[in-house]
Amino acid sequence: MKSKVKVIPCSGIGKVLGLIARESALRVTGELLPETTESLCLAHIVTGDDEIVAKIEGQPCITIDGCAKCCAQKSVEAAGGNICNKHRVIDFMKPHRGEEHGNGTRLTEDGWKFADELAEVMAEEAKAVLEGE
Ligand code: SF4
Repeated sequence: MKSKVKVIPCSGIGKVLGLIARESALRVTGELLPETTESLCLAHIVTGDDEIVAKIEGQPCITIDGCAKCCAQKSVEAAGGNICNKHRVIDFMKPHRGEEHGNGTRLTEDGWKFADELAEVMAEEAKAVLEGE
């Protein structure tokens, strides 16, 4: 059986960009491609225990970070994940300037639309990864 593509968001607690990252990843793994993708807890990855390293090492991963600190990308790299695509929510902001996306705990309608847009991008990438395997 093929391993699932890991879609891993940053934790982004208290920041709307982090919440958008998390919700977009969960939309991919929970709704768009639940059979072929999965998410993993970033805090668990950071601890680097054997169980999580075994799940991630050499496996295809897509990361989505809220900001330029790239916590998810760096943590997945450190754990040996094979990052196929990496994103930062801030890089998608330009066409969304002027919109109100919510806050660190709650997204507005525009915030959800933004998260859905990112989810569609990552779902297409995950499909491409799976087709290429
Ligand atoms: S990438 Fe930015 S928003 Fe996400 S956890 Fe790190 S500092 Fe927070």
